[in-house]
Formats: sequence, structure tokens, C-alpha cells
Amino acid sequence: MTRVISFHYTLTDAAGKTLDSSAGGEPFSFMEGVSQIIPGLEREVLGLNPGTKKKIPVAASDAYGHKNDSLVVTVPKSQLPKGDDILLGDRFKGGQEDSAPVYTVTKVTDTEVVLDGNHPLAGVDLVFDIEITAVREATEDEISHGHAHGPDGHGHHH
Ligand code: ZN
Repeated sequence: MTRVISFHYTLTDAAGKTLDSSAGGEPFSFMEGVSQIIPGLEREVLGLNPGTKKKIPVAASDAYGHKNDSLVVTVPKSQLPKGDDILLGDRFKGGQEDSAPVYTVTKVTDTEVVLDGNHPLAGVDLVFDIEITAVREATEDEISHGHAHGPDGHGHHH
């Protein structure tokens, strides 16, 4: 059978800075075997039972990969749709297709901006502090969609 595993997590970098957390919200749910979560985390979580707490370090290479310098580009503001209104931290897709990289504005000067098409967590060694809240069988809907529908299997997905 295919399982859906739910867990609460706090994600930090190797220095202990919190990057993301499910605390205060619903636990995160994923379906096994469909690469819904990063491989280094899935491998560790699959063997755990509800109630188990564990700290799972995941190296960048097993998480969001290493930074690719060729995805960091400097472009004149005049070439961008937002022009002079572009702000540090703005994010936008670099094309129409689903696979187009998402660029983050990492530097703004008077005339140019630096765009980084890497995942924000590329090159970052991660630590997941997790607590398994539930393990259940995937519903037929979930199996046909190829992803989990929340802790109870009826969540609306995006
Ligand atoms: Zn679905």
C-alpha cells in the first residue's frame, strides 16, 4: 500500500536559524514514493512511527542542490517589466513554461538588478526537527493525483 505521512517540522539551517516551521498550523503531509518532499528527508521519515520525534540533518546535495552560478545574472532595470519599481526580494518567473526558473532579486543598483534563479535553499545544509503525527493509507484520489491531500485526505490542494 501507499502511505501518507503527516508531521510537524521546524526547519533550520546548519547554524540553527529557523527557516520555516509548521508550528501553530496543520502538520505537513506527503505521499511516499512520489518525490513530494526532498529525498534526504523522505528516506529518513519513511521508517518512523507516529509520536516519534527526530532531528534529521539533510546536506544541500540531498535537499535543494548546490548553487548554480550560471543562474545568477545581472540585467539592466530597463529590461524588466517593473523597471525602476523593482525591489530587493521581488520574485518572478523567468518564462511562461512550468519549468521556468523563479528569479529572486538579490541586489538593486540605480540602473541594474542582480537576479538569482537558484532555489532560495540551494547550497544550504538543512536540519529538520520533526514529530510524526500520523501515518495512514493514501486515498484513491491521492494516488491518482500523485500527492497527499492534507492530514485527513480531504484537504483542498493547490
Ligand atoms: Zn490532488
